Amino acid sequence: MERADVLLVGGGVASARCARALRRHGFEGTIVLVTAEAVPPYNRPPLSKELLRADLPDDLVLAEAPGWYERRGVDLRTGATVVELDAGERTVRLDDGTSIGFERCLLATGAAPRELPVPGGEGAMLLRTLADARHLRSAAVQASAGAPVTVVGGGFIGVEVASALATLRLAPTIVEMTGRLWGGALGSELAAWGMAQLTGIGVTVRAGSVTRLDAGSAWIGDERLPHALALAGIGVIPRVELAQRAGLEVADGIVVDPAQRTSHASIWSAGDVARAGPRRVEHWHAAREAGERAALSMLGLPPTPHRVPWVFSEVGGVALDVMGASDGWDDERWVAGGSVLAFLDGSRVVQLAVIGSALEPERGRAIVGAEASLAVLEAELAGG
Ligand code: NAP
Repeated sequence: MERADVLLVGGGVASARCARALRRHGFEGTIVLVTAEAVPPYNRPPLSKELLRADLPDDLVLAEAPGWYERRGVDLRTGATVVELDAGERTVRLDDGTSIGFERCLLATGAAPRELPVPGGEGAMLLRTLADARHLRSAAVQASAGAPVTVVGGGFIGVEVASALATLRLAPTIVEMTGRLWGGALGSELAAWGMAQLTGIGVTVRAGSVTRLDAGSAWIGDERLPHALALAGIGVIPRVELAQRAGLEVADGIVVDPAQRTSHASIWSAGDVARAGPRRVEHWHAAREAGERAALSMLGLPPTPHRVPWVFSEVGGVALDVMGASDGWDDERWVAGGSVLAFLDGSRVVQLAVIGSALEPERGRAIVGAEASLAVLEAELAGG
């Protein structure tokens, strides 16, 4: 049977960064990267932004340039799905019946978008893959100007997709259960700011639960919302099945230690599927950083510490950066003329939302990491 020194399962940025970090640190063993998708690993952030607006050629979303894998001796297997993991034997079985043995393995199987759990819900498009984004973009381009679109869920996908579709001259309505953007997870001030931004570009945001879908409409109880197309962005489910069946510790994600090690000594996990702390972090920077950390750990090098989370998004064409992932603030305070929102726990800044790039993200991360005071933040913004 074929054996890999390092086997990377999953084709997201966590795997790609792990491969890159292994080579950068001088690892010369064999690396095999297996992905079910037909394309090499790519960055997902543009899928709900630039790619949807057709502002970016599709090949620029690739995590590594074409040819990188061959140059760096990474054996890339696209269109191949791992169907079984035997942790004890250190082997995986692929959907074509072949098996690969490994010395070390990274499980970076990501997450699957939740389907809308209502009658007709399968008629709502989902956005997770490059193929999904191309499908949505072509449906949007074919719809006539001003055509209504139902977007179920006012989280990151809902807000970004509605923003992009409004740019394409469609008329999106976001239906959000809580009536507050990001489900209220980013506080009421930012939700109100986001609502004003979206309204300004012609997006409607309303509270409610879609109870069923049919060919040309969404229903909220007895109320009918006609649409040309519908999309659901209602969260994701971590793909833990392989790990679970292999007996690894799983609890809303594959449980990992600070070095991304799972409960099995030869297996690491990174990206949306891995849970290192009290909750999983489902964002691009975190996935890349975790992939790198896993590589260092595999090589016996000290892993880079976990960093303050940083999420970048867009709302109605305006950049939004969020540093920190706290749910423990007791006050929200706008500073810098309303371009920075400080989430305060007492006098400490525990999270920041930055609008229109008013503060360099790494500086924002440092302030949140230090739990600095509002005065320190204001001095930083004043250039002091
Ligand atoms: P999300 O950010 O978790 O937001 C889902 C939203 O849908 C939540 O506000 C949720 O409310 C709401 N919701 C759930 N069920 C609903 C229903 N039946 N009807 C109406 N609303 C409902 O998930 P997402 O927007 O689907 O994004 C998927 C993943 O991609 C996430 O991990 C996200 O972080 C990631 N992503 C990140 C970015 C970025 O970093 N810029 C961009 C796009 C996607 P409750 O919270 O009350 O359940």
